[in-house]
Amino acid sequence: MTKKRIAILGSTGSIGTQTLDVISQHPDLFEVVLLTANNNSKLLIEQAIKFDVNTVVICNETHYKDVQKALDPHYIKVFAGINSVEDILSSYDNIDIVVAAMVGFSGLKPTMAAIRGGKTIALANKETLVAAGSIVTREAKKHHCPILPVDSEHSAIFQCLQGNRSPIEKILLTASGGPFRTFSYEELVGVTKAQALNHPNWNMGAKVTIDSSTMMNKGFEMIEARWLFDVTPKDIEIVVHPQSIIHSMVRYRDSSVIAQMNVPDMRVPIQYALSYPYRLNLDVPRIDFSEIGTFTFEKPDVNKFPCIRIAYDAISKGGNIPCAMNAANEIAVKAFLEEKIGYMDIPDIIEKTIEHTAFISRPEIDEILQTNEEGRNFAQSLLKKIN
Ligand code: MG
Repeated sequence: MTKKRIAILGSTGSIGTQTLDVISQHPDLFEVVLLTANNNSKLLIEQAIKFDVNTVVICNETHYKDVQKALDPHYIKVFAGINSVEDILSSYDNIDIVVAAMVGFSGLKPTMAAIRGGKTIALANKETLVAAGSIVTREAKKHHCPILPVDSEHSAIFQCLQGNRSPIEKILLTASGGPFRTFSYEELVGVTKAQALNHPNWNMGAKVTIDSSTMMNKGFEMIEARWLFDVTPKDIEIVVHPQSIIHSMVRYRDSSVIAQMNVPDMRVPIQYALSYPYRLNLDVPRIDFSEIGTFTFEKPDVNKFPCIRIAYDAISKGGNIPCAMNAANEIAVKAFLEEKIGYMDIPDIIEKTIEHTAFISRPEIDEILQTNEEGRNFAQSLLKKIN
């Protein structure tokens, strides 16, 4: 295997730091060329020096001088602003894989730039496919860019599809059920920020943790799976599996089900995306089946977790509706984290925003950007009413 040259967008976040951990386990196989971060300039500087990168971008321009000063003695190029990320991705030809690990809708433009630049995408940013799945997959095809999933569920599905030469019958998308699986509806209404940020199985950033608890995250993953594996929403069934050892399954038309398992650790799917089609050693815990004892499965409760139903409805309507859903969710989750709204206001704000959205059946990128803007503004106006 020749050394793969990696760019990490969002290197200081949860996926970004774990990607660097994987890379540090295989310095002979991977080399970091570019790191980008929004605000965490201190960690970005540390990472850049440790991995001796070629270029960094700090998106928040107010930190530019600090980063530039710290990295200049190391001959590391420093740029500022999200536009620099796009410029670099569409022009640098020394990048093999772009790990798209930024959070939120803001990941869309840089990911599109990487696709136009013909790079392989290791995709961890969910919102990109949720908001603009038809455009992103079409452009990736046009520019011959493989999109390799980083999310554990999609990596699992991708792994279950290896070597397969038949159409699949069903994708069984597993969900931990989050911290509130056993809560009643009334208990959910009173959920606090601290409760929602405490996920039993996964360690993630705040946005993803809240999305997991409302199961919006699973709705997003269903939509991502629809685009990544070119199936209809009906072909995807969500199965709650609280142990989070099976990361998803694929059922074939002879009734056989293939599952992918490992102890929950994002470094496993991250490494698979980087090393694909090979598997490399990885220093993580192994499954001890006799210690786990029991695997359980149940159907998700869409009355307690309306975000699942909202996501199925949104992707079935299609067009710009999933984009509006995502926009409203970003605003609602932010407001919940700022303790401005209640927990069950989140699905409420999303549904009202979708209702208010003017439907566009085949949106192009400008219309997606506009839907995002309008969805955010409308969701904001709903917040004011709640207060
Ligand atoms: Mg996931």
